[in-house]
Amino acid sequence: MSVLAVDIGGTNLRTMVFDSSCYRGGTDYHGGSSPTPFQLHKLPRNPKGSLDISSVAAVLRQQIDICRAEPGAAQVEAVGVSIAGTVDRSRRVVVRAMNLGLDDVGLAEMLEHAAEVPVVLETDSFAAGLAEARLGSGRGYDPVLFLTIGTGVGHAVISAGEVLRGARSGASVFGHICVEPNGVECYCGRRGCLCMYASGAGLAALAGSAGHEADGEAVGKASQRGEDWAREVIAQADMYLARALAAALSLMNPARVVIGGGAFAPDAERFARLQLGVTERVHASVQPIEIVPGRFLGSASLVGAGLVAEEAVVVSKRGDNAEQRHS
Ligand SMILES: [Zn+2]
Repeated sequence: MSVLAVDIGGTNLRTMVFDSSCYRGGTDYHGGSSPTPFQLHKLPRNPKGSLDISSVAAVLRQQIDICRAEPGAAQVEAVGVSIAGTVDRSRRVVVRAMNLGLDDVGLAEMLEHAAEVPVVLETDSFAAGLAEARLGSGRGYDPVLFLTIGTGVGHAVISAGEVLRGARSGASVFGHICVEPNGVECYCGRRGCLCMYASGAGLAALAGSAGHEADGEAVGKASQRGEDWAREVIAQADMYLARALAAALSLMNPARVVIGGGAFAPDAERFARLQLGVTERVHASVQPIEIVPGRFLGSASLVGAGLVAEEAVVVSKRGDNAEQRHS
């Protein structure tokens, strides 16, 4: 089976022809590489800054046509789209995507006109969590708490192989747990949210208050070079992360915590520190706690988009078979 996986992030649009059987073997793709390299496109935006949906549709169409023209290649049967926003799967709409200027938009239907195959939407952190729980570092563990640390901090809880979406599909906003009651103002309008300290942007802000101008990635690199100021910034971010994690662990007692995302450099020192910081803060009943790096890191949401598209194909074939039996 072949599907098209699409990831709509804050800066880029990534697409990849996906087949989950490539990931089920023993090969370790840890480090963000994937058996089929993804295509990177600049995210198209309208002059006012919102997502340019017709340009996204054109990219999808182009990718599907490329597959169609390739002799002997499996044809794309569905498209899975992970997006940095809240998705209502049953209505097939993006309820809210602040950074993309989308508010209650029927994106799946709009993209289907161009793709001419079923399109399934998923919140990016849910897609990424699903990828790690089914094919990555959370495989064989239940339940899994997945955290993704990039521009913001998102999460997913995966129980019995399925995402716990929450009553309003909002169980993905780990980054807005308050870790500092009188802390910095967050873009969500509240104060002291975790993402203001532990995301890429948060690390940059912490670096700024220590007198260093550096983005999240530069802080990570400086820390790996052993620069004290950067190591201190990351230690501070990890303290906040441990604070939020401890609350989550007490609530759900996961079998494994998997951390991924583009702004999280998975070094052994960080994991040891987080492990210690969390262990100190939680009740014995939820211990021992296992915190591990994700297998797919920055590509997890793209892999997850592929998984939800494959699922849609399976469900539709099952429906067709049932119809045939009844006719
Ligand atoms: Zn917030």
